[in-house]
Amino acid sequence: MALGEWWRGLSEDGAARSRAMLGMVVSTGVGGGFVLDGVPYVGPTGNAGHIGHITVDPGGEPCPCGGVGCVETIASGPGMVRWAAANGWTGEDARALAADARAGHPTATLAFRRAADALATAVLTASALFDLDHVVIGGGVAAAGPILFDPLRQAIERNAGLGFLRRLRVDPTSLGRDAGLFGAAALVLLQDDDPGT
Ligand SMILES: [Zn+2]
Repeated sequence: MALGEWWRGLSEDGAARSRAMLGMVVSTGVGGGFVLDGVPYVGPTGNAGHIGHITVDPGGEPCPCGGVGCVETIASGPGMVRWAAANGWTGEDARALAADARAGHPTATLAFRRAADALATAVLTASALFDLDHVVIGGGVAAAGPILFDPLRQAIERNAGLGFLRRLRVDPTSLGRDAGLFGAAALVLLQDDDPGT
C-alpha cells in the first residue's frame, strides 16, 4: 500500500513523491510501511513499520500482541468501539461510530479524537526517527474522513516542535483499496527501472 501510494498516489495538494514516506492502514488493526528514498524498507524480518504496536499510552490497555497501550488498542475500529461502548455509546460498529461522530454525538466524537491523538503521537515519533515528509493513511477508519483527519492534523500541528517535524504532510489515501495492487505492480515494474518513471 505504501509503495503504491508513493508511486501513483497524489497527495491532496499534488505534491511530488516524497523522499521519506510512511503508508498506514487504520482499520480493524493498524499497520504501516516505509518507502525511503524510493525503496520499501521492510527490515530483516519484514516487519519494519509495525506502527500499530508502538506504545502511545504506557498505562493503557493490554494489547493482544503482548504489549500495552499500543496505537492499535486506541485507534483501530474495534479499539474505538470498545472505548465508546465503555463510555455509554450503544452503537454497533466503527461505521456507526463514524456516522454518530459526524452527527455530533459527543462520545463518538471523542473516540475519534482519542484515535487521532494516538495516531498523531505515533506519526510524530516515526517522523522524528525517519525525517518523514509524507504520511498517507488508508483503511476503514481513515475512510471516515475529516472527523479523523481534522483532529489528527490539529494534534500534529499542536505537538510538532522541531522544525523538520512541521514539514510533515498527512493525507488520506488517494488510491483507496487499489493502493496495494499498485504497490505490487511497482515491485515488479520498478525492479530494474528508474523509479521516476
Ligand atoms: Zn500491540
